[in-house]
Amino acid sequence: MSEQLNRRRFLSTAAAAGVGISLAGSVRQAAAAGEKPALLGGKRVRTQSFPSWPVQDKREEQALLDVLHSGDWYRGGGKYVDAFEKAYCELTGSKHCVATANGTSSLFASLGALGVGPGDEVIVPPYTFVATVNVVMLHFAMPIFVDTDPETFQIDPRKIEAAITDRTVAIVPVHIGGYAADMDAIMDIARKRKLPVVEDACQAHLGEWRGKKLGTVGDTGCFSFQASKNLNSGEGGAILTQNDDLAAGCYAFHNNSRAPKIAGYHFNYLNTRASNLRMTEFQGNLLLAQMTRVEEQSDRRRDNGDYLSTLLAEIPGIAPAKKYGGCTRSAYHLYMFRYHPEQFAGLSRGKFIQALGAEGIPASGGYSPLNTESFILETLKGRGYQRVYGEKAVAQWPERTRCPENDKLCEEAVWFTQNMLLGPRSDMDQIAEAIRKIRAHAGELAKA
Ligand SMILES: *Cc1c(COP(=O)(O)O)cnc(C)c1O
Repeated sequence: MSEQLNRRRFLSTAAAAGVGISLAGSVRQAAAAGEKPALLGGKRVRTQSFPSWPVQDKREEQALLDVLHSGDWYRGGGKYVDAFEKAYCELTGSKHCVATANGTSSLFASLGALGVGPGDEVIVPPYTFVATVNVVMLHFAMPIFVDTDPETFQIDPRKIEAAITDRTVAIVPVHIGGYAADMDAIMDIARKRKLPVVEDACQAHLGEWRGKKLGTVGDTGCFSFQASKNLNSGEGGAILTQNDDLAAGCYAFHNNSRAPKIAGYHFNYLNTRASNLRMTEFQGNLLLAQMTRVEEQSDRRRDNGDYLSTLLAEIPGIAPAKKYGGCTRSAYHLYMFRYHPEQFAGLSRGKFIQALGAEGIPASGGYSPLNTESFILETLKGRGYQRVYGEKAVAQWPERTRCPENDKLCEEAVWFTQNMLLGPRSDMDQIAEAIRKIRAHAGELAKA
C-alpha cells in the first residue's frame, strides 16, 4: 500500500473517531513519514525534553522550612502528618488515613493488621513492582500469582477463584499504571469467599472506579509517594480504609503497637505485632505543598492519556492498554501499550524503543516476569518456609503460579512515564507522529 493511501486512510479514520487534527499538523506528519528515521540519521520528531519531575517552587521551600524551624520533626510532637492525613481523606473521600514511611510499609502494615502470617497464602498479580510480593514474604506468607489479562495489563479476575485455597487469607490487586483492576469482579469474589482486599494503589492516585477513588473500594488501599509517583515526597506512603478496626490496627502496626493520640508519654500496647513505619513531619508538609497541584496534574494526565489512546488505537500493531468499563478514570502513572512487531515489518521491540528514543520520545519495555524471579523460590526454599508449608507445597509452587499470558505481555509491553503526559496536547500528537514514522520505515530499521 502506498504511503499516500495509508495517510488518507489514517486521516479518515481519525476524523471518524472524532480526533481533531489540524491541517498543518497532518501535513507535518506526512512530512515526517517521508523523513528518514532519526536512528538512521534523519531529523528527530522532537527536540525539546518532556516536562521534568518533580515540580517544585516556593511552596515546597516554605513547607520544609516551617517544619525545620518548628523543631518538631516527628509526628508525635508535630502537626503536619496529622494535617496531611486529614487532607488526603478529603481528597479521596476516605474515612481514615494512616500515613507511612513509604508504599512498601503501607502494604506491610495492611497485611499485618489483617493478621497475615506463616502458613497463609496471598493472591497477587505478577505484573507489578516487586514490593507487592516482598511484603507478603515479610509476613512469611506464600505469594500465589494469578495471571494477567493482557488486554488491560491487570490481574485477570476470571482466574482468581481457581487460585483460592483454604489457606488463602487476602487478595492484593494492583492498579498497575494507575489504570484500575476489575474491582467489581474482585470484590464479588472476595465477598463470596469472605476474603479481605488490599488495593495496591501505589500507582493510582486519584484514579477512579465507578466514580470512587481507587484505594477506597477494598478493605484497605495503599499508596506510595516515592519520587517517581504521581504524588511525591521523595519517600512516603499512606493507607486508606473505611473500617474503624482496620484503621486502629494499621496505626498500631506502624507505631510499635501503640494506639494513637493518648495524651502524654505512654507504653500501652495493643495486641499486635508491629514496627516503626511512621512518616516524618518533613514528608507530611512537603506532601501538603505538592497537593496544591495534584488535581490539576491529574486532570492533565487524564486528558492527554485518553487522547493519546485515540491516536495510537489507529496505528496497526499498537494496542493501548484497555480500561475496564468501571474504570471511570485512570491515574496514568504509566502510559502502557502492547507492541506487535509483525505489524512493523518484524522490527523487534528493543529496536522500536531505541528508534523512539532517537526521535526524542523516551520509552521502556517495563517489567519482566516477577513470578519466575529466583529470589522468590529461594526464599520459599528457606528453613522457615519448608517447616511451615512442607517440601511438597514448595515443590509444587512454581507450577501453581505459572503465568503464560504475563510472560508474553512482558515481551510486548511498552511504557511512557507519567511526566510525559504533563505537557500540552501537541506532545501527544508528536508521540503518535514518531510511532507512525517508525512504522513507515520499519523495514529499513529492522535491517539496520
Ligand atoms: C512504588 C510501588 C510500591 C512501593 O512503594 P515504595 O514507596 O517505593 O515503597 C508498591 N507497589 C507498586 C505497584 C508500586 O508501584
